[in-house]
Amino acid sequence: MKTAVRFNPLTAIRRLGVAMLFSAAMAVSVAGAHADPLVTPQWLNEHLADTDLVVLDIRSAIDGGGAQAYAAKGKPNNGGTKIFSVSGDVECPGNYEIPLGTPFSTLLELAGGMRGGRKIKAVIPGGSSAPVIRGDVMLDISMDYDAIAKAGSMLGSGAVIVMDETRCMVKSLLRLSYFYYEESCGQCTPCREGTGWMYRMVERIEDGHGRPEDLDVLNSVADNIQGRTICALGDAAAMPVRAFIKNYREEFEYHIEHRQCLVPAYV
Ligand code: SF4
Repeated sequence: MKTAVRFNPLTAIRRLGVAMLFSAAMAVSVAGAHADPLVTPQWLNEHLADTDLVVLDIRSAIDGGGAQAYAAKGKPNNGGTKIFSVSGDVECPGNYEIPLGTPFSTLLELAGGMRGGRKIKAVIPGGSSAPVIRGDVMLDISMDYDAIAKAGSMLGSGAVIVMDETRCMVKSLLRLSYFYYEESCGQCTPCREGTGWMYRMVERIEDGHGRPEDLDVLNSVADNIQGRTICALGDAAAMPVRAFIKNYREEFEYHIEHRQCLVPAYV
């Protein structure tokens, strides 16, 4: 007889942290074990075969015209629509569904434009792990997998974070680095140790105690995390560090040299 598994996902996510964001960890947790991400949970399907629980990473589309009509809404190799969750320095943060291939400037218009009419500085186009792209570059490209990849980032979850000219890129990276440092489950040495090293180095730069060699060391630590961990959190922690330094190196260097922020208007 099949058994139904019931649980409150919000409560579970609060208790178990980022590990719950990975389907394998979620399923392991529901099965009664510690919610560690797994490389290949071979035994999992057998265990879950006796339950009514299905854990999937899915995006679905309900469209009366069928698959072909749905795909035609996008552009070649990037069919269909995608829901973008736009947050940050825009007038109307929210979820917007648009055909893939729509210019980013159109999405920005849907979100009410830049808050207070300020200038766009940076966009993280696909969730916090997606490499940041300079604002002027984003204004010239479209929201689809190929275009964003060509610009050096990824569409990922579609969580678009828009930052205006008052944002300090060092402080922004500090927040991201702290998040991944806090969320590392500690199974893999590169992630467990590296996220802490990166967070503490970015914190040192933000606090005015950065050293000239810190940027190269940060890149080196990120290189040694990416691709060397069990789950994607290692990559997710490394990619923002490399992209922020690559695209806003002058701000990091200013922090290190002058021991203060290049963006005095930051609040
Ligand atoms: S990459 Fe990080 S979060 Fe993922 S399993 Fe390894 S230590 Fe845990």
